Amino acid sequence: METKLAVPIAAKDLDQARQQVKAAISAGAELLELRTDYLVNLSVEMVKNLIAYVKSAGDKQLPIIVTCRDQQQGGVMDYGQQLRVEVLVCALKAGAEFIDFEYDNFLIAESQEPIKQALSQNPQARLILSAHNFETKFPDISKLHRDILNVCPETIPKLVYAANHINDCFEAFDLLHQNKGERIVFCMGEAGLISRIIAKKLNSFVTFASIDDQSATAPGQLTIEQFRKLFRSDCINTDTELFGVIANPVGHSLSPAIHNACFGEKQMNKLYLPLLVEGGRQEFDSFLHNVIERKWLNFIGFSITIPHKQSALEFARANGGFVEPLAEKIGAVNTLVCRVGSPPNKINNGGASPTLQAYNTDYSAALDAITSTLGIERDGLRGLSVAVVGAGGVARAIVAGLSDVGAKIRIYNRTVEKAEKLAVEFNCDFAPLDDLMDMNAKLVVNCTSIGMHPNVNTSPVPQECLKSDMAVFDTVYNPAETLLLKQAQQAGAKSIDGVSMFVNQGLAQFKLFTKTDGNAELMRKTIVDCLSKG
Ligand code: NAP
Repeated sequence: METKLAVPIAAKDLDQARQQVKAAISAGAELLELRTDYLVNLSVEMVKNLIAYVKSAGDKQLPIIVTCRDQQQGGVMDYGQQLRVEVLVCALKAGAEFIDFEYDNFLIAESQEPIKQALSQNPQARLILSAHNFETKFPDISKLHRDILNVCPETIPKLVYAANHINDCFEAFDLLHQNKGERIVFCMGEAGLISRIIAKKLNSFVTFASIDDQSATAPGQLTIEQFRKLFRSDCINTDTELFGVIANPVGHSLSPAIHNACFGEKQMNKLYLPLLVEGGRQEFDSFLHNVIERKWLNFIGFSITIPHKQSALEFARANGGFVEPLAEKIGAVNTLVCRVGSPPNKINNGGASPTLQAYNTDYSAALDAITSTLGIERDGLRGLSVAVVGAGGVARAIVAGLSDVGAKIRIYNRTVEKAEKLAVEFNCDFAPLDDLMDMNAKLVVNCTSIGMHPNVNTSPVPQECLKSDMAVFDTVYNPAETLLLKQAQQAGAKSIDGVSMFVNQGLAQFKLFTKTDGNAELMRKTIVDCLSKG
C-alpha cells in the first residue's frame, strides 16, 4: 500500500471545481477529495456532474473521495444530515471509489442504513469513517480507532486532531506504527506539519496537499509542489532516515531546502524536516526523548538553532553524549547526531563513539569562509587584527573560533557590557560601536542583524572606515549582498558574504549526518533561489 497524495477540491460552484480539478491533476495529485460541502446550492445532480467530469479529465482516472462534511466537524455550508447522506449514496452510484462520513453521524441508524446499502451495491467502493478534534488531542485515540473498527471492520478510520505542540504528534505516529491496516492519521496546525510530511514513511493511507497556498482546506496543509520538490514525497518509504532543524520559529529556515536538495542529488533515502519545537529546555528534552525512544522513526541528526542551542548542549551533557570541546567553550551546540535510537539513559553505551554527539559547526563555517576567500590556511589568521561587530550568539562562535587560531580581536557592540563580558571570556579587547571610526583592523566581521532583510539600507560600519587593505565579512545572508558588502567593494576591500558561512555550516552538518560531502554549489544556488522568491 502506497500513501497517496490527495488534493481536496474545495469550490463554491462547478466551474471553479472543474478548474481546481484540472490544476490538481496537472500538479500531480494522486487522488482527489471532492469537498462537496463547499458547493453553494448543493444537489445530488451537481455531485454526479462533478464525478463524471473527474472521470473524463486527465490521462489516467484518479480515484475520488467524496466528502460532505458536517459543519460540526469542519464543514463549510450548513447542509442537513439527510442531504449529506444522499450526496454520499449518489457518489457511490456515480463511481466514487471512496466516501468519507463522520464516525459520530454513522452511529445514527437512519444515516448508517442507506450508506451500508449503497456500499453493498458498490462493493468495490470503500467507506472512510472520520473523527476530528480541532482543539486538541483525542482523550484516547487508540480506543477511538478500535471503536471505529468495531462498528465497521471494513472501514478506513480517519483520525485528525490539532497538535498544540510538536510533542502532541507522537500519539499519531504510535497509532500508525502499531496498526498496520489502512488508516489515515495526522495532526493539524503548524505544530502538526511533520505528521503530514512523514505520513508516507508511516504508511498512512493518504496525506492531503493543497494546489496552492490559497486553496488549503485545513491549517498546516502543504502544497503539492512543497510535498514533491521540497519534501521529496516521491522518494519516501518506511526506511527513510529523518533529519531536521529544531527551531522556533522554523518556517523561514533554509536548512530543509539545502539538505533535501543534496539528499535528492545523491538519491539518498533521507528526508530533512522543519521541526517547530516551542517552549524551553523541558519541551526540547521531551521532543528529543520522544524521537530517540522511537527507534522506528529513524531520526539520525538535527540542526539546532534559536532558541535551543544551549538546551542542546545541556541535553548532550546530561545524556552522556560526546561534546566537541570548542562547542563546550562556546556554550552552544548547533548540530546533534544520534545514530542509534536507544533510550536516553543508554545513549552512551560506554564505547569509544557515543551514539549522541554534539557539535558547533558555526565557528568552523565562519573560519572556512574567511580563509577560502583570503586564500590562506587557518594558521594565517594568527595575529590578524579583527574587528568583530556584535556580541550575540554568532559573535560568540566566531570570537571563539578566531581566538582559538590566535587572531587579535576587538569586539564592538551597542550594549558595551555584553562586549566586555565576551571579551573577558576570550581574552580580547572591546569597545562601543562609536569607536569603529578609529578601528585599525584588517578583517571586519559583522555579527549583528543590521542590514538584514527588510532593513537592507542599513550598515553597522560607517562607510568611511572601510579601506582597500581590509577584508569585510558580513554574516547576514539575507540579502546575500548587504549594503556593508557593497560599500566594502566600493572601497576596494575583499568581501565575504554570509551565504558562504551558511553553506559551510550546512556542508559540515551534511558530513556529520551522512559521512559524505554535500554539494556546495547546489546549496548556494538553493539558498539564492529561496531568497529571491522571498
Ligand atoms: P543575537 O544573539 O540576537 O545578537 C544580535 C547582535 O546584534 C547583538 O550584538 C545586538 O546588540 C546586535 N544588534 C541587533 N540590532 C542592533 C541594532 N539595531 N543596532 C546595533 N546592534 C544591534 O543574534 P545572533 O544569533 O548572534 O545573529 C546575528 C546575525 O547573524 C543574524 O541576524 C543573522 O543575519 C546572522 N547569522 C548568520 C548565519 C550564517 O550562517 N551566515 C547564521 C546565524 C546567524 P546588543 O547586544 O546591543 O543587543
